[in-house]
Amino acid sequence: GWRAQADLNALLAALDAESGAARFVGGAVRDTLLDLAVSDLDIATRLLPDDVMTRLKARDIRVIPTGIDHGTVTAVLPHGPIEITTLRRDVSTDGRRATIAFSDDWREDAARRDFTINALSADPSSGEIFDYFGGLDDLRNGRVRFIGDPLQRIAEDHLRILRFFRFHARFGRGAPDGPAMDACTARANDLMALSRERIADELLKLLALPHPAPTVKLMAEAGIFRPVLPEIEEGGVERLFRLTARETALGLPPEKLRRLAALLPPDPAAAAAVAARLRLSNKALKRLVSAASWPQPAGDPRLLAYAIGRDEALDRLLLRDTDEGLADAIAALGDWERPRLALSGGDLIAMGLEPGPAVARILQAVEREWSEGGFSDDGEAVRALARRHVDEALRDK
Ligand code: ATP
Ligand code: MG
Repeated sequence: GWRAQADLNALLAALDAESGAARFVGGAVRDTLLDLAVSDLDIATRLLPDDVMTRLKARDIRVIPTGIDHGTVTAVLPHGPIEITTLRRDVSTDGRRATIAFSDDWREDAARRDFTINALSADPSSGEIFDYFGGLDDLRNGRVRFIGDPLQRIAEDHLRILRFFRFHARFGRGAPDGPAMDACTARANDLMALSRERIADELLKLLALPHPAPTVKLMAEAGIFRPVLPEIEEGGVERLFRLTARETALGLPPEKLRRLAALLPPDPAAAAAVAARLRLSNKALKRLVSAASWPQPAGDPRLLAYAIGRDEALDRLLLRDTDEGLADAIAALGDWERPRLALSGGDLIAMGLEPGPAVARILQAVEREWSEGGFSDDGEAVRALARRHVDEALRDK
């Protein structure tokens, strides 16, 4: 909106963008050229980080020194944060992190980026695009290419193996770049040197894309998963294809954990091991284990959802071997909210039942009959059901 634009203009003025001191860089330029929504705006600048801080403060723009040693500060605009990073070059790298020096050379800053399509920059005033490595051409042709020698770029930062596949899944058309594939294949073992969190993060970002399955297949064939996720085998890739096809057919949004579950064998122990290895949250672990817990469900999907949760029920339904009844089951859970049994232990006691183990037993029995009978929201019917049980218990005494 115009307000966000005005704030952005003030920021650009503070950075002296008019004279070419600041440009938009990276994903924002790429995504704008493709007419895609821009998620986060990154600005690069010739100005040194301290200078950026001073200039923004002088204009009452809130600024946080988020990574000032690496040249990054964050301007907090009302519309959202914007990262501003001083031009850099790599001095040394060890595959996991880089030591950098500040630079005033735009080409040098572009050269340390990973892929040509990620190395474009744009002048905010004129809109001119700067393309030092053929990124525009690659963008047009759906080609994800490393800048420079892929083997060397992967040696500098092993995460780029996974980034390559993620960006290929997102922007690639046709076969992947040959030299990049060769290098990723040859260096797959390097992934072991990375932290599991970073691997998990990249993998889940890939799985959250609209169509990850063809790329995951490429990765499996190239042995990319073997070092870190040997559980992923051919059958898993087939299940991922099937799951994403079902999501498309049913109009369901991508669900990265469900997709990861599809890749894993239907074995709760294996799912738990993967979740632990990838340092996933406890919640994610539970979800993966639930999804891996076959036998596969049949019957009223709402009963399943009531028992294990809606998302977990959707996981199991969508991961089943069969399409039979799937569309109806998904429709039944479309806007499903967990119904509540309108009955408490206090209600039973008010009906004459004595406090004790019978209270819980009867509550459970009523809950079972109520759920199996279709979760009636008729409170009177539930009370009548409860009264029958209470009367029976009093009679038996
Ligand atoms: P997304 O929409 O996924 O955020 P993005 O292009 O903005 O896409 P980021 O991971 O946010 O990707 O990184 C921003 C930019 O920083 C990239 O476009 C790329 O130029 C550079 N970059 C990020 N990670 C690396 C890396 N590991 N090696 C080299 N350059 C990188
Ligand atoms: Mg980004």
